[in-house]
Amino acid sequence: MRSLIDIPDLSTAEIDELIRTAMDIIDNPGKYSEKCRGKKLATLFFEPSTRTRLSFEAAMLELGGSCLGFSLAASSSASKGESVADTAKVISCYADIIAMRHPKEGAPYVASRNATIPVINAGDGGHAHPTQTLTDLLTIYREKGRLNDLTIGFCGDLKYGRTVHSLITALSRYTGIRVVLISPLELMLPSYVRKDIMRKNGVPYVGTESLEDVLPNLDVLYMTRIQGERFESQEEYERLKDSYVLTPEKLKNAKSDMCILHPLPRVNEISIKVDKDPRACYFKQVLNGKYIRMALILKLLEEAEKDPVLHEEDLSHLLENKLVCDNPRCITTVEQELDQLFEVSEAEAGTARCHYCENKMKL
Ligand code: ASP
Repeated sequence: MRSLIDIPDLSTAEIDELIRTAMDIIDNPGKYSEKCRGKKLATLFFEPSTRTRLSFEAAMLELGGSCLGFSLAASSSASKGESVADTAKVISCYADIIAMRHPKEGAPYVASRNATIPVINAGDGGHAHPTQTLTDLLTIYREKGRLNDLTIGFCGDLKYGRTVHSLITALSRYTGIRVVLISPLELMLPSYVRKDIMRKNGVPYVGTESLEDVLPNLDVLYMTRIQGERFESQEEYERLKDSYVLTPEKLKNAKSDMCILHPLPRVNEISIKVDKDPRACYFKQVLNGKYIRMALILKLLEEAEKDPVLHEEDLSHLLENKLVCDNPRCITTVEQELDQLFEVSEAEAGTARCHYCENKMKL
């Protein structure tokens, strides 16, 4: 049985296959309308969501299946102190597949180790959001006709923007990708993404604070919201929240076929005047999210049918309980009796990454 916790769980061939299935769903929706008849998707959302939860539910309904779940932690037994592990065991008795969003980083991974049905990470804290990445890849593919030979600018909150971390991880697999990181110094991309992912895969990248300076070079511009809910200081959020605003004036210097993406929700980082520009693809991106989630649900349910067993993960290469993760957003800070698991970093000597949230710590 397979779950999807982060992009490395999928091979490049599997990502390409999901894109192919999504394209076939777009062309032949009738062929798929009964594929999940009798199957149930549980959406466990411990954090707010509009697009992700509803697109998962719309995807399952369009496949002929049904949905159950909750959209607020307060309406689940988490508010009574139930662990993620127990919640996952309970939901496995009611549904065939889970989509889980949680504010603690690594929570869907803990669920996947305890559920007897596939678990899909629908966003964990500031860590990862793999189904948004599949959505982004399908959108880039449909708009640009390829996933290689592209210069992609990521702008805004690169520190807490989980969609950025997962998309860079995925794009690092393709050839000819050049990354431009546009953020205030305080919101720079975490070092595990820069060093363990981009540097390790030989992806050239540059960093800048100025969007205007780099805009003319970009094939894709990925705008993001400053993630107010992840800041430890409200004052810092207030200071940084208006760092970037994309306007029609600024776009005059961009390529005529540049594609503008945003995982949404938008606050003020893209002026609504940009929406009419043919380069604005963020609402098309929303629709693509439904198609690719249909493809993913189909794939994971088919695999679970062939191999319904939850396989024990090999943790022998990890350090156990030698360090204690100091990321306040890590699931290990709240879940009962979880072993601390760390992977020694190959890219940065003397450091190790938490296996749950990827926080880097000194050995
Ligand atoms: N919807 C995206 C997410 O859940 C982006 C955002 O919230 O800013 O990560």
